[in-house]
Amino acid sequence: MSIFSKIAAGEIPSYKCAENEEFYAFLDINPLVKGHTLVIPRREVDYIFDMEDDELARFEVFAKKVAVAIKRAFPCVKVGQAVLGLEVPHAHIHLVPMQSEKDMNFSNPKLSLSKEEMQEAADKIWTEFVKE
Ligand code: AMP
Repeated sequence: MSIFSKIAAGEIPSYKCAENEEFYAFLDINPLVKGHTLVIPRREVDYIFDMEDDELARFEVFAKKVAVAIKRAFPCVKVGQAVLGLEVPHAHIHLVPMQSEKDMNFSNPKLSLSKEEMQEAADKIWTEFVKE
């Protein structure tokens, strides 16, 4: 089981932002900015472009709903999307509230937020997500 499968199954704690039967969203533990979120399929698949067309389409629509919630929770110019997958072999979309393109530079130093700040950020996104 990948670390992200364990997160989606609740076996490893995470700061939950959104979920449905098929997909799960939680805060990146090393955020580029406040509100940096990861979206994953519960099904274990490493490379995003190995996903079937239908599943990939549903994945992106779910990520869109999470992005809308992030933008409401963390007002920004746009929510940027990136797929790297170089570190964790379980497909995931990074969603990053951007004030400028510099916020999408994955070489930037990561923020160090307290547990309370992380929980507060996740709760804000969750609150917006469930309003839909
Ligand atoms: P990459 O696979 O290159 O897209 O990078 C994996 C991302 O997952 C990094 O941004 C990590 O900070 C993040 N990450 C790794 N483990 C966890 C975890 N347990 N909880 C939240 N985020 C994580």
